[in-house]
This record gives sequence, structure tokens and C-alpha cells, in this order.
Amino acid sequence: MDYALLAEAYRQLEAAPARLKKVDLVSRLLAETNQAVLPSVANLLQGSVFPPWSPHKLGLAGNLTAKIINTVTGYSEGDIEKLYKKEGDYGLVIEVLLSKKKQRTLFGRRLTVEKVFENLQKVGLVEGKGAQERKFSLVAELVGSATPEEARYIIRTVMEELRTGVAEGVLRDAIAKAFFADVVWTDDRVLEAVRSASGQKILMENGLLESLEKKEKISAKGRESFLGRNTVSQKSLEDIVQVGDLWKEKSKIDLILLSDQEAGSRLKQDILDAVEWAWFMRPDYGEVAAAARSGGRAALKEMKLAFGMPFHVQLAEKAPSLAEAVQSFERVALEWKFDGARVQIHKSGERVWLFTRRQEDITAQFPDLVHMVHKNVSANCILEGEIVGVDRQGNPLPFQQLSQRVHRKYDIEKTAEEIPIQANLFDIVFLDGKMLFGTPFEERRKLLSSAIKETGTFRLAKQLVTSDLKAAEKFYQQALDARQEGVMVKNMDAPYQPGRRVAGGWLKVKPILETLDLCITGGTWGTGKRVGWLGSLLLGCRDPDGRFLECGMIGTGIKEKEESGGVTFDQLMVLLKPLILSEKENSVTIKPKVVVEVAYEEIQKSTNYPSGFALRFPRVLRLREDKSASEADTIGRLKVIYQQQFGKRK
Ligand code: AMP
Repeated sequence: MDYALLAEAYRQLEAAPARLKKVDLVSRLLAETNQAVLPSVANLLQGSVFPPWSPHKLGLAGNLTAKIINTVTGYSEGDIEKLYKKEGDYGLVIEVLLSKKKQRTLFGRRLTVEKVFENLQKVGLVEGKGAQERKFSLVAELVGSATPEEARYIIRTVMEELRTGVAEGVLRDAIAKAFFADVVWTDDRVLEAVRSASGQKILMENGLLESLEKKEKISAKGRESFLGRNTVSQKSLEDIVQVGDLWKEKSKIDLILLSDQEAGSRLKQDILDAVEWAWFMRPDYGEVAAAARSGGRAALKEMKLAFGMPFHVQLAEKAPSLAEAVQSFERVALEWKFDGARVQIHKSGERVWLFTRRQEDITAQFPDLVHMVHKNVSANCILEGEIVGVDRQGNPLPFQQLSQRVHRKYDIEKTAEEIPIQANLFDIVFLDGKMLFGTPFEERRKLLSSAIKETGTFRLAKQLVTSDLKAAEKFYQQALDARQEGVMVKNMDAPYQPGRRVAGGWLKVKPILETLDLCITGGTWGTGKRVGWLGSLLLGCRDPDGRFLECGMIGTGIKEKEESGGVTFDQLMVLLKPLILSEKENSVTIKPKVVVEVAYEEIQKSTNYPSGFALRFPRVLRLREDKSASEADTIGRLKVIYQQQFGKRK
């Protein structure tokens, strides 16, 4: 398949901010792509050539990219840097420079998707001595035979900055649309669908055509032109709903038009759910798209967990209070909400794999946990738990210490000794060849308990089955005293729902931390879409002498466009630009004057900032124009909240 087709799709996607339009574009591309290259196209659309659990990444560095552009275009690195400063995107830089380059002959070139995919995979795979040179030549080979537009997207892909907005939901909807009949209801949308369709096989509910003709005052003669090049057949609503299988390959139908909203949305949702289910089981849209094309709904629904391939785990909802959480279910189990990292453990025969919640493979990083699994689990199964870092006495360490182990590539054994772990297991989803998603939680916990041998460091999550609020409160306090985050309140009768933050499943209860009013003291110029703005900002709290001590960097919560509520980059820039005191490379220092209200998940100790603290996941809520810098929160306030978050003062 010509890469030009994909590049054209990228271009159209970039120009189409509306989600529906994106779905339409992607679905058309997928439908036209042949089966052999479909998985590559689905992955490239998301800007990747590896699934999330692959240890290999693209992520070419800016300086190497600049060198490639220099070699391929002949422009100096200085020119390239200048243009980059203006555009904030090496993809645009290469496109501009290649377009300027005259007399560029691409002898008999035809860059294919297969070739791009192959070279990009190699870029991610090469390691060790000479890796940089090899990456250089692999990418240079591609852009050297690319049109300016193709080069833009190749460069963006290797830098992992595709910016075409094909989010996961867009791919899900596009796969449904590409391989299953679309369902449309309500008169207006039905009319529009008939008018915009061309050469499609349309199935209509009996009577709908006549009622539309009447409404639109179409005469019997006009019917033909109204229906255009489409072929229309009609069936009763019951028959349409009963068939249910909307797989294009089998039903030979592209579009189903109904008047019944309830039936329509059910049919449509069923297909979306099937695509999503397959993706929850195998988080790789390449594989899901290929299955949808070749086996329809049945193939998607039959997708099963596989050892060595992470699945999308169940998520938790926030509960407003412990009391409300406990009253939410008939039979309640409370568990400590451990402050660590979630892990899914796959064990099959002699093999063990460990994955994070975001499906990264961390088996190599936790040899100690692999060892525990070998010793204490004999069945072939998939378990879930939270790993917590502990000190020599077995007391939990702050999450940030454990996080040092998660992405470590070197000194793994040494760090494992320095930061030992404890695994708290809370679920089992696969045992001896059987998926357990439909099994109620109470039963799963029993199965979990019988599948493992408990030890001091490999154990079941602390649990209390009660609906008594007093007992629940005591348990919650114990969790906080033990420096954990809070509790999870679980429905004993609920199935396990992969990939979902569902009502009726898990409710998390943790202390709510108050927001902080902090002063902006510096920033870094943005790139890409944020070029010309300070894309991330330094936040400071006051010390007793009125100085400002930094405690975090923030880029989240600031809006790119005006919306109701919140603060935009433009608004901030008007306030901050006149306050810039000095500028060095990409960073500026700013006279502390502008105060923003900031929410965050946690305050951590940190040596990265002069305050000695760092806010975890900070986000700007609003501008505090009513506050002057001297009214910003103090380091003392941070200390108090830091201590409160553990439920006790030290
Ligand atoms: P949150 O990340 O705040 O949405 O909370 C959900 C996370 O809490 C899960 O993804 C787990 O990593 C973690 N967690 C800690 N203890 C438990 C537990 N007993 N049951 C389920 N999840 C837990």
C-alpha cells in the first residue's frame, strides 16, 4: 500500500478537528486497506509501530532528527533550528525545506506503508554500539525517498508526536463503521444519510421510506432520484433487530435506517461494545481491526485473554464519602487502598510476566516479584495486585521511591535490594484456562486465596467484609495510619468489568486535599501546538521571608481555547510576558505576581525543588486575580497538608 495514501489521511485528519469527521476518515481508510497491511495501518494511525507492552519505543531525539533533516535537505543545522523555533515541529520543518529544495528527483520511488513500518520498527529495535548511526540511516532512507508531505509524517512518527488526534475512541468507532453496517435513526439524520450515501446498500425499516417521502413531499416519480445510486431494501423492525449481526461481510448491508431510537442505539452500542471488548482483551487495534474484518462480531466477542499480553483492567470510581460508598452495595468488602503501583501478574508454566496498569511490561524491573510468583503460585493464572515499596522494617515507603524501580534499565538487582517490595493481591481474572470476569467478586477472592501461598511480602490485600459504618471508619483510619491512600469499597456480588470505571464495581475513598494558591515564578516555552506560549509553568509557595520556593511544574488545566471557566494560555501570556525577568535557552524566570489556584493528587518530598516538596499531578483550576503574591500559600501550609495526607501528624 502506498504510504502516500496514509499521509493524505493524516493530512485530512489534521485538518478535521470534529470527531465524527475523524471517525469517517479513518473508517474509510481501514475499509480500503487490505488485510495483510491492516494491523500496520491501524497502529500507524495512532503514531506507533509497537504495542504498549513492547519495551521498544521510537522517540527519536530532536538533535538526531535535526541531523537527518540536515543531511536530506542540505540546509544547515542553524537554519533548521531557526525554522524549528518558529514552527515548533520538525515535521513541518522538513516539509518546508524539502518543498524548497529544487530539482529533487525521486527516481521511480513509491514509498510503501510496509517499508515505512519495517524501517520504523527497526529504529525502535536497534540497540547498543552504532545504534544512533543505524537509526539515522533507517530514517534518512525513508525521508530521502519521501515527498515533503510524507516526510512530515515520518518525522513526526519517529518523534512520537503525530498530532492527528486519532484517539482510542476514534479508532474504536472507525473499526465499527468500517466493518459493520452503520445504524442511523431520527428523520433528519436518516434524510441526511440517504442524501450523502452513494452506491450503498441500505436496509430500511418498513414504512420509513414512505413517511420520509411524505414529509419531504417527494412524489412517486422523484423516489428514484431521492434514493440516488443506493440500493434500498426494507424489512420490519423486528426482523432487523433479530438479525442483529451487522457485519458488512455477512449482511451485505452498509447502512441501516430506523425510526426507533431505542432499537437503533442498542444495535449500534452492541457493535461498539464488541469492538471495545476485543480491545480490552488485546489492547492492540491492529489485531482488533483484523479480527473485525475477518470474523465480524463473533470474532470480537470471542477474543480471550492471552498470557504475555496485558489486558485493560477495571478502574475505580470516586465516592463522595465513606458512608455513601458503604451504602452503595448490598454486600460490601472494604480493602486498603495501597499507595503503590498496580501490577497484573501472568503466570503460565515456567513463565511469568508483569504489566503496569498502562500495559507496560515491567517483568525485568521486578525480579523479586517474579521470584515470589514462582514460589507461591502453582496454577496458571492472571492475578492483580498493588505493589508497595517497603523499608527494612516492612513499613511502606512513599510511592515515589517505588516509582524509581518501574522504568529502571540498569542496576535493577541493586535497586531491588534497596527498595524491597510487598505485593498486595486483590483479584484474579483467569485460572486454569477459564476467564473469571463473570464470576462474582466474593467467589473470585476465594479463588485468589486458594491460588496463592501467602507470605509476609506476597499476600492478599487486607480486607474487611462489613456494612457497618463504624467498623468501616475504623478500617479506613487503620489504612491511613498505615500510610496508605484510603480504602476501596467493593461490591461482593459484582463481576469484573475490564477497562471500565463502572457504577456498581469499585469505589475509592481517600481524604480530599485542599487546593493551593501558588505564584507563577518561571516557565518553559512550549513546542508544537503550544509554540509562542509558556507551555509549562513553575509554581512557588511563599517562605517566611516573602521569597518564593518552587514546588512544581504545571501544564495541565490551562485551556488552549476560551471555554466557560478556567484560564487560557492567551490570558496567562498577557499577564506573564511583561513580568519576564530573564531568559535562558528555553526557560524564563518570572516576577512572582500572578497567583493561580492549583489542585493536585498528593504532596511529595522532593529534592528537585527548593521548597523540598513536589506536587503530584498538579492542575490549574483558575486564576486568583483577587489575590496578590503576598497572599499566596506558604511553605508552612504545604508542610501541614503533607502531614495530613497520611491521616496523622508526625
Ligand atoms: P485511582 O488510581 O486513584 O483511580 O485508584 C485506583 C487504583 O488504586 C488502582 O488502579 C490500583 O492501582 C490501586 N489500588 C490500591 N489498592 C487497591 C485495592 N485493594 N483494590 C483495587 N485497587 C487498588
